[in-house]
Amino acid sequence: MTPTRDVLARGQPLRLLSGGAGTVGELLGSGGQGSVYAVDTAGRRLALKWYHPHVALADVTLRARIARMVRQGPPAPNFVWPLDFAEIAGSPSFGYIMPVISSDRRELKDLFAPPPRGINPSLYIRAAACFDIATSFQRLHATGYCYQDINFGGFFIDAERGTIQICDADNIAIDGEPGGVYGTRKFMAPEVVRREALPSTKTDLYSMAVLFFYMIFNWHPLDGRREAQASIMDQALERKLYGEEPCFLFDPHSDANGPVPKVHDWVVARWAAMTDRMRTLFTRVFTQGLSRVQDRPIESEWRSALAHLRESIVDCPACGFSHGVDGAMVQRGCSCVSCGAAVPLPPQLNFGRDPLLLTPRRKIFEYQMGGGYIVNEEPPVGSVESHPRDPAILGLQNVGKAVWAARTADGTKMTIAPGKTVRVVDGIAVNFGLREGTVSGVPSAAASLGSAA
Ligand SMILES: [Zn+2]
Repeated sequence: MTPTRDVLARGQPLRLLSGGAGTVGELLGSGGQGSVYAVDTAGRRLALKWYHPHVALADVTLRARIARMVRQGPPAPNFVWPLDFAEIAGSPSFGYIMPVISSDRRELKDLFAPPPRGINPSLYIRAAACFDIATSFQRLHATGYCYQDINFGGFFIDAERGTIQICDADNIAIDGEPGGVYGTRKFMAPEVVRREALPSTKTDLYSMAVLFFYMIFNWHPLDGRREAQASIMDQALERKLYGEEPCFLFDPHSDANGPVPKVHDWVVARWAAMTDRMRTLFTRVFTQGLSRVQDRPIESEWRSALAHLRESIVDCPACGFSHGVDGAMVQRGCSCVSCGAAVPLPPQLNFGRDPLLLTPRRKIFEYQMGGGYIVNEEPPVGSVESHPRDPAILGLQNVGKAVWAARTADGTKMTIAPGKTVRVVDGIAVNFGLREGTVSGVPSAAASLGSAA
């Protein structure tokens, strides 16, 4: 490879705006905007994004954007945010210092790569990762920024924990101010594809929903029959499918772009195994939300639906296919959408809306008993524990501060002080202080063992 004139040499000294200094280390990666190097600043290993000189010249607001981000600091800790401005004596370009992506992170696009590079995390991990993204974007948007160019390249996943790091922060702009980009194909909102609007928080909400659909279904929400039957995908067709005449794969009012047998079978199965809350949000954003930006779900709606999905997943005992279990599925009984086997459900705690599944080690939060609106940093009030000698027997431990009152189906009353546990039996009603929930769906073998606390 012939070195181009903007390649930095190892050991080259750089100057930081804050007054510090550092030296350039090895090249970590290179892209259209610039290159990323390891850098040593006062013994601390960080990364340096160094712009190609033509980018630094052409993007006239870039310098001011980076400087403002350095001043304001990251809206959430998982943004790989510019920490300091970097310059090199005699160079026409500039760059910024940022944290290094942890080595245990994988690129999100590895979800779509074939083995051995590909990763296939569980639905639980996927829902957790989407939740993390929704939380981060809620904070980003609340500080007046928009990301502008949501696509796989900006996200790194910890596939064991479902946490996300968000990079490519240099595309982030103040909402309403023109930034440097339109976006990435298939992620752009239809009005951006048509060049009728510039990226904004409203188009971010669309692109985020596309990303979530990809992460949960491994598929694009607008790729149905029309894309499957297209012989060639040229610019005109792409503009039509994602800009001029977008149509959701699962549009309840139109089969024009519906699923094709054999091509979309897996996506159809996962859609059938989704909670109604998730289907409702996806349907809203990819039907009326295609044209009415105010109808696109906001981050708090996604967070509630995703947190609910994450705690509602039950796997088929025969084939392992994951199901998001909600009230409707409990009512009709769960048979696997993939292989048809009966899927036994854990006991449920009912408050009138979707039941809370009582799976071992699950934590119960006050907000889950009501409308499901998530309160940050709220400690759990209950914890589901299995009996040390018989894992089939479950108990609900009071890990909060209030004393619970409980009443069994035969009318026996008891109180459960903080630290104590009540056995999970059919028909028992537990008053947690503000709300009362009733247990149902306990397998008869465990229920016959009585209700002693
Ligand atoms: Zn199955």
